[in-house]
Amino acid sequence: MAVKRIGVIGSGQLGRMMALAGTHLDTEYVFFDEALESPCSNLGPTLQPSQNTLDEFISRVDVVTYESENTDAKLVEKINQHVPVYPGVNSLLKSQHRLTEKAFFQSIGISTANFRKVETKDDLNTAVEELGLPIILKTTREGYDGKGQAMIKTAGDIESAWAELQGKELIAEAFVTFSRELSVIATRSPSNEIKIYPLAENDHSQGILRVSKVPVQNLSDEKAEQAKQFITKLLNELNHVGVLTLELFDTESGLVANEMAPRVHNSGHWSIEGAYCSQFENHIRAICDFPLGSTEQREPFAGMVNIIGKHGDRNSVLKQENCFYHDYGKSERKNRKLGHINIVSQSEAELSNTISQLADFVKECG
Ligand code: AMP
Repeated sequence: MAVKRIGVIGSGQLGRMMALAGTHLDTEYVFFDEALESPCSNLGPTLQPSQNTLDEFISRVDVVTYESENTDAKLVEKINQHVPVYPGVNSLLKSQHRLTEKAFFQSIGISTANFRKVETKDDLNTAVEELGLPIILKTTREGYDGKGQAMIKTAGDIESAWAELQGKELIAEAFVTFSRELSVIATRSPSNEIKIYPLAENDHSQGILRVSKVPVQNLSDEKAEQAKQFITKLLNELNHVGVLTLELFDTESGLVANEMAPRVHNSGHWSIEGAYCSQFENHIRAICDFPLGSTEQREPFAGMVNIIGKHGDRNSVLKQENCFYHDYGKSERKNRKLGHINIVSQSEAELSNTISQLADFVKECG
């Protein structure tokens, strides 16, 4: 019997877009989260975590997935004793800890920044000596969108970085000189079918993704191949099921991995209208072991602009025929992701033009 009932740990916009993408394949959703009012509230029931509701959650679903790499691994292990949880706990644990993740990347031949574990001030001084400046000091866990990080440009910055982050488990990373940030997203099913999306070029500001563009312009065949090899290796080594995202730095000597996320990703939102089968639908197909959909682009160019902090005049965007507005139904809050606009286009020039026009809209929001 085909899987029908899907449990999602979390109930944010990623859960919402998974449920929206999967509903047309006659799948149903139950969310497991504290928040009863959420982007998912009209897509299925939400159970607030407790022992009783956990038992109920497990009894109401055939397969479980999650929205965040910060999902409790113990909870995942517990659920997995009753119903499969995809991606598996191995993918989750490796993505939750920057040191484990980087050591894993290197062990399977994926290049990363040089790094050192930092537990004491002496460790930090040694890391500065061995890696050279600048370095970035990061918490090993729960850092996202640039949080829990301090840049050390000169010896004078060591004190303040240490004061800010000491007491937490830390990693010091050599600063990678890169020309741009890219990501590669792929999906794998339990039957070992793998589909890879075209790479995206991503612009961040204040540590938050603002714009993604596809395909990446002027990317050498070697680098495109390197990205494919990296993600394929990761999927297979992790025995990963579902979508996996790898964030990359584009450097003169090749691609360097920054981090992975065992989930659908903001830099893949373009795929809703930009690809034949979106990352959300392909995630649902993968965890249900359905045949995967095509990751090819529908139009030659696609883009995504995030709406952050404040809602703008939505109607002005709805009037544009090459733009697709996605509103997560969230209230305004500084730096909160409220929605995104996808763009499809026949030419790079038109895509860039539309993104420039949307910059005014986004300014009004942010
Ligand atoms: P992260 O939370 O690790 O994704 O880092 C947030 C952002 O900081 C990245 O998107 C990069 O722009 C920058 N960054 C992180 N690590 C490095 C690094 N080792 N070298 C240069 N820039 C970095």
